[in-house]
Amino acid sequence: MTNVITGIAASAGVAVAPAFLFLEPDLSYERRQITDQSAEIARFEDAVAIARQEVEALVETAKTKMGQDAADVFTAHLMILQDPEFVGAIEEIIQDQQINAEAALAQIEQKFVKLLSGLAGNAYMQERMADVRDVSKRLLAHLLHQPLPDLQTISSPVILVAADLTPSMTAHVDPKFVKGFITDEGGKTSHSAIMARTLGIPAVVGTGKATTDISAGQQLVIDGSRGEIILSPNQQQLSAAKNARDAWQQRLQAEAALRHDASRTADGHHVLVAANLGLPADVEAAAENGAEAVGLFRTEFLYMHGETFPTEAEQVAAYRQVLEAMPDRQVIIRTLDIGGDKRLPYWQLPQEDNPFLGVRAIRLSLANEDVFRTQLRALLRASVYGRLGIMFPLIASLPELRAAKRILQEEKTKLLQAGVKVSEDLQVGMMIEVPAAAIMASAFAKEVDFFSIGSNDLVQYTLAADRTNRELAQLSQPYDPAVLYLIWRTIEAAHQAGIWCGMCGEAACDPIMLPLLAGAGLDEFSMNSTSILAVRDQLRHCSQTEAAKLVSQVREQAATAAEVKKMVIDFQKSYEA
Ligand code: PEP
Ligand code: MG
Repeated sequence: MTNVITGIAASAGVAVAPAFLFLEPDLSYERRQITDQSAEIARFEDAVAIARQEVEALVETAKTKMGQDAADVFTAHLMILQDPEFVGAIEEIIQDQQINAEAALAQIEQKFVKLLSGLAGNAYMQERMADVRDVSKRLLAHLLHQPLPDLQTISSPVILVAADLTPSMTAHVDPKFVKGFITDEGGKTSHSAIMARTLGIPAVVGTGKATTDISAGQQLVIDGSRGEIILSPNQQQLSAAKNARDAWQQRLQAEAALRHDASRTADGHHVLVAANLGLPADVEAAAENGAEAVGLFRTEFLYMHGETFPTEAEQVAAYRQVLEAMPDRQVIIRTLDIGGDKRLPYWQLPQEDNPFLGVRAIRLSLANEDVFRTQLRALLRASVYGRLGIMFPLIASLPELRAAKRILQEEKTKLLQAGVKVSEDLQVGMMIEVPAAAIMASAFAKEVDFFSIGSNDLVQYTLAADRTNRELAQLSQPYDPAVLYLIWRTIEAAHQAGIWCGMCGEAACDPIMLPLLAGAGLDEFSMNSTSILAVRDQLRHCSQTEAAKLVSQVREQAATAAEVKKMVIDFQKSYEA
């Protein structure tokens, strides 16, 4: 059909709504000498006036939709737009240097940023730096007649269409209005796809051409289970989409009956089906979907939400919220995992040629001990409110793990000396997401309380295939025997050392992976909340003893991902028969 485009099915569900095109405008310009300074100043003042109107409206929207804190950010922007040291200085440069407004704006922006970055240790100054950047971008966009799209202004149902969505953009998405995501770039395990699943929003990623084929406001049907988008659907397509949406909702209702059940295999083995969280508030959806634990709280989203680093007290409150919402249940909170495709707008880090192989996650924490220690103190303080496990991301070598544990111990000792209570049964674990860690799992297992396999990164690093590159979707399979070998080796090493092993990557809720993980004795499956009940349902139909036989068979006979997949499908058929 000609009005259908396809991509990677990244988050299940069906939605019908108009497109909201989120395109980063081209803000390039040339520095020019001008002759008529008054005309140039008038052009700049027009841009300031439009920007002011826009920001005034944003202050109001933020007040009603997001609260006073968000409104304050825009109020600060308004102050910059009224500040003679900013606006006046730009006009002076236009006058004195006879250059165009864009170039004069850039000069003053750089001057302010330089001044404020000299005071970068100060959180308030960092916020001001981000404000100056935002305001300058808005002004530049108006000077170039390229208005900026703004996710925060969305106030009616839409399907978001973008080249790519960075995690910090998705952090601003309001699921009340955003009914689906479509992107040109990205793969099934890129963070925008993960966020879509967390929010329970259908998503199709890696379409390659959505932003060129779809126009703003065009009616769309998105089917996130099939990876399909229908542009301007006809009556027949619309009613088929509505049927699919109803069937999807019925399935959700049937699964809801399992909400209060424990997760057991067909032959009675209990495993934990846990939730992955992006923000503390996600814990509500986790509880609603019957999560038996929290297997991964990606704390970086907490850092992305603000204009600067969250304070120790803010972090304690966030971690406490999650722990108290999960009484008597294990809650694994991962320390900051910034780098790769995740950035903080207020933390200027050097550009890297290969960010996924760069200073990311635990490497960044160890290189910035002040940020790391603040987070660890907050975690330790919060530990008394529940059953906390602290988890370190991207550990590749034992010295890294030991350094992280030493710093944790130092902070713990200091708190105890200061009379602060810390939980006595705090667990300390690590992610297994670098092949080196999986290979050395036996050595690591002696030094932690648990493992959680990060299959998203483990797949990417084992197969040397960037997880956000849609061209590599075929290669990036958790079913690849090389990946399975590392997963099974990790589970075995954990059990030999007497510790538990979970998985918090997307493979934990992949129906093909389920018997391969249950059969190897995985103790905990952690996933976006919206997949929990489907996995619990699938586990009920899967015997661990039979799945263990499948694992042996795959180990002996399968040499490619396709062969693995076929063997699992045959197994599932014979089992259902
Ligand atoms: C993983 O890599 O599988 C994982 C859970 O971590 P993240 O997706 O946040 O990198
Ligand atoms: Mg990871």
